[in-house]
Amino acid sequence: MKSLPVCPHCSTVFRYRDIRKLFFAKGCICYGCREQFRVSRKKVYLLFLASALIAAALDAVELFFMKKTSFAFLMSTNIAVLLTAVIISPYFIEFKKQ
Ligand SMILES: [Zn+2]
Repeated sequence: MKSLPVCPHCSTVFRYRDIRKLFFAKGCICYGCREQFRVSRKKVYLLFLASALIAAALDAVELFFMKKTSFAFLMSTNIAVLLTAVIISPYFIEFKKQ
């Protein structure tokens, strides 16, 4: 299990909600040591790419194996996969020294 990112200077632990807020920030100041660090989203993009591939693969499996699959069912599995990716995305953020 991945853990939430910590400050690269002092290892202060950031809460899930704080990381959500930092998601679109370029840089951030640690509330523990007041040092600046930058927010790396590279792995979050990989996560979303992977989840899009998983969603597409699930669609293919559903279309192939289920005789009566509906558009709504396909969409709900896609949304479930993407929602899971959104929920776990803070675990894929990294804090790096500037
Ligand atoms: Zn710190």
